[in-house]
Parts: sequence; structure tokens; C-alpha cells
Amino acid sequence: MRQDQEDPYQRRSAQVYAAADRAGSGSVASPRPVLYDAVLLDRDGTLIEDVPYNGDPEKVRPVPGARAALDRLRAAGLRLAVVTNQSGLARGYFTGEQMRAVHARVEELLGRFDAWLVCPHDDADGCDCRKPAPGLVHGAARELGTTASRCVLVGDIGRDVSAALAAGAAGVLVPTPVTRPEEIAAAGWVATDLPAAVGEILRRQLAVQPSAPPTERVRTALVVRSDSAGDVLVTGPAIRAVAAGAERVVLLCGPRGRAAANLLPGVDEIIEHPLPWIDPLPGPVDPEAIRGLTARLGALGADQAVVFTSFHQSALPLALLLRMAGIDRIAAISDDYPGSLLDIRHRVPVGVPEPERALSLAAAAGHRLPDGDEPVLRLRRDAVPPRPADLGDPGYVVLHPGSAASSRACPPEVATRIAGALTDAGHRVLVTGSPDERAITARVAAAGGTDLGGRTDLVGLAAIVADAGAVVVGNTGPAHLAAAAGVPVVSLFAPTVPFGQWGPYRVPTVRLGDAAAPCRDTRAASCPVTGHPCLSGIEPDEVVDALRTLAVSGGGGP
Ligand SMILES: [Zn+2]
Repeated sequence: MRQDQEDPYQRRSAQVYAAADRAGSGSVASPRPVLYDAVLLDRDGTLIEDVPYNGDPEKVRPVPGARAALDRLRAAGLRLAVVTNQSGLARGYFTGEQMRAVHARVEELLGRFDAWLVCPHDDADGCDCRKPAPGLVHGAARELGTTASRCVLVGDIGRDVSAALAAGAAGVLVPTPVTRPEEIAAAGWVATDLPAAVGEILRRQLAVQPSAPPTERVRTALVVRSDSAGDVLVTGPAIRAVAAGAERVVLLCGPRGRAAANLLPGVDEIIEHPLPWIDPLPGPVDPEAIRGLTARLGALGADQAVVFTSFHQSALPLALLLRMAGIDRIAAISDDYPGSLLDIRHRVPVGVPEPERALSLAAAAGHRLPDGDEPVLRLRRDAVPPRPADLGDPGYVVLHPGSAASSRACPPEVATRIAGALTDAGHRVLVTGSPDERAITARVAAAGGTDLGGRTDLVGLAAIVADAGAVVVGNTGPAHLAAAAGVPVVSLFAPTVPFGQWGPYRVPTVRLGDAAAPCRDTRAASCPVTGHPCLSGIEPDEVVDALRTLAVSGGGGP
């Protein structure tokens, strides 16, 4: 509904008006930016000072630096929308006409926005647009001719970030004195003020675009991602970027990541070898094995190597082997001084999502995703079989309580209560887990659901996840399988690593759990705190509510 139509009080949908003459301008000749088309901005407390239920244009005061920051976004070709809860309309504190006068004043001071999306409802209305519901974000994306995953939303409270994540958009929190500490802890991306948020949006956007096109075609590129399935999956977009600029891509992975490597598009050949400086449970260094690996890498004749790592891993030991194997062009992220081991020493600030971190390294090596290949996790279509027929229709909820790292697993008693609550709410629940998690999955499924513990390898799990309505899972591989299938995630996220780096990427997500628990940022594999408090406090009703927010309805429900 456009804002210049009436009547807000009679409508269930959010109000929209757009400046259609501007939408889409500025993107004619240049390739589409890799990450974002649009920036969505909360109004009160983000663009202008929060004056509760303001209907008076004279009281509009932009936050410091707002005009210049917005103009930077406009100059970069990004479209802008305002997404704002205005329950004062429902409550009769001001009229639609007064609100439009306020918005006219905002545009007078801050310049034109391409769309305004307003939720006129109150919490009691149960609409799908009042933040933290994702309706305004979806509406803005539609109005701007893009998708939510190509939008980033800037807001000052947890509701704003939650709405963004529930739509699959990125969310930046710019706290004010009224922002609650737990909202700040839960946000994956926090900026000190609006200009800083804008600076970081533009920096991330530029970081994944090569500054210069590759000087010569790469014949064989060696890409490296050791460690586990999740690590390999989140590197997928960067590997596709390299594949777009190389004739042949060889992936070196470890045994823990091999099954995921088989699923990645763009990979022509896989070499599996454990790297003792990466593996979390390393064996002793075997000089003979290392010599063998070096010889095998040398035989590839690769003319470029791109070594992907997590922020706590070092690329340098492998870079030395690659040098000894005769590879001339080596790129990696390294804070440690690399001497002559790297040709491209790339650096990335903390907090950047792992897929973007890897894409920025690919960009530094001269590669970008081609137009039409979105920077989302993806699996090879031909590698995932149909799911078993005995699981019934699509739309079930996959509950995956376990994790290779127990610190990131959902406590079995919590998972059991979640299974019961989901079943009571009309959801069909499939409980999945590895062969050694069978005791837990049996116990959880006994409370409601079908026990698939031990029945699936990674590929089988990918097949089941692909047809799910949602996946309820901790910070572990299956969360990234869900992201790769575009399936919404209820993330029971232990904060041992930053959510902003490891949260489900570009897929509708609700984050649950205590983000400020003492395990925060410890990277602990087993919970260092008695009682696993980050996840043990999750109430099953929160999961039921999260599925409602994600518009996942119970299988046979109303
Ligand atoms: Zn609404």
C-alpha cells in the first residue's frame, strides 16, 4: 500500500510509497555489486533523534553526520528505504497526514529515499510487518526491485536487527543509550554511529570486488580449505568466484571437510590431506607425508593458489609447501608477517561473515562472482539425491541437537522439550544426528518426532534439509547446509565464536540463546561453564514463536 493512498487504519499490510523514477538508476553500465543493492534504515533513533510519537515536522532532528553518510550510499549506487514501526498511528497519537509531513521534513533534511515502508500497527495487531517481523524488509526489497538477501538494514534496537535476519538480510546495530546490553550482545554487526555503519557497508561491498581485472587467465587454480564441513561450505562462494576466473579448480581439503567438498560447485578435482597445523585433533607431523603432499601439489602445475583460513588459523605453513612445490602466485589472509611466502597478503577486520571474508580474499586474488551468481552458499544440484520417500511431504522441521563440538550442541533436555513443543504446535519433526549421537536423537524424538539419528551422512542430511520448512540447529555444519538450500534456520547459537562471522549466511534466521554467556568468544570445543548456560535457558516456546516469525506453519496446522 502506498503512503499517498488511504486508509492506514483499515489495512493489514504495511504502507509503501516509492520514488520509481530513481529506483534502478545508476547501475546501467557497471556490473551488479556482489553484496548489496539497497540499504534500509530505521527512522527514529537511527536517522533522526527519537521523539516518541512525533507528528510535528518542526521536531525532526537528524542524527550527526546522517546527510553526508546517506549521500555516500547514494553516490555508490545503493538504493535507500526507510523501514519504520509507527504504532502511534494505531494508537491515534498522530494522523497519517502528520506522519507524511514529518517524512517530507526528513527528506528535506536528509535527501530523497527510494521507498518508505511504515508499519501502522500495534503489537496487539499481530501483523507481519511490525519489526521484529520481517514484513517491512521483504516489502522494501520488493519495492526496490531486489531481494531481502541483497539488503542491509541499519537500526538502533534489537527489533531492527531481528527483522533483518528473519528476512535473510544483513542487520547493523547502531546502539543509542536506550539500546539494551543484551541486544548489543546478540547483534552480529555493531557500529558506533550511522556514519561508521555506512563506512563499513561500503568497505565490505568494495572488498569483494577486485580492484583490477585479472591480468591473465588462470589455467589451474589451487584453492585450500582445511577443517570441517561447515568451514568448507562457507568458503563455497569464494571458490565459485575463483572458478569463474580459472579454467580448472583443484581443492585441497582435510578429511573432516571431504564430504562437504564433494558438494561444492566449481570444484574440478579434490585432494584430501590432513594439515597438522589446522586439524583440531592433529596427529604428529609425518615428514614423509608432508614430502608426498608437496610433490603432489607441485605436479598440479597450478599457476595460482588461494589459501582460505579462519581467523585463528595460519596459512603460512602451507604457503611454504606451496613455494617448495613451485607455485608462483600465492594469496592468503595473514596477520602474521609472511616474508616471501605470499604474493598477496590480505587482511580482514574481525566480524566479517566467513563467506565474505573468503570472497574478499578471492577478490584480492583477482576474482569475483559473475553476475547472476549470488553470494550465497550453494551445493551442486547433481550431488544431492532425492530424500527418502518415507519422510512424507516437504515442510517438516529438522531438529539437529548435536554438534562435533559439544560447546555448540543443544543440551539434550532442551532439545527434548523443543521436540515436544513443536509437535504440540502441529509441526512434523525429524530429529537428525550422526551415528554417535543416536542415544540423544532417540531420546529427543521420543518427546515428539521421527528419529533419524545415524541414518544420514552429510549428503543424506543435505537431501533431507533441502525439503524442510526450517532447521532448528546449533552453530554446526547442518546450519550451513540449510543456508545452502535457502531453508530458514532457528539458530541455537552458542556464542563461543562471533555470530556475525559464523551465523547462517543470507538465509532467514532467528537467533536464540544467551549471547552474553561467559563462553562468549572463548572458541571452546567443550563448554567451559557449568550447566551450558548459553543454550540451556532456551524456552521451547521461543522456538515455536521463531517458526511463526519465519512464516513456517505446522505441517497439518490451520
Ligand atoms: Zn504492521
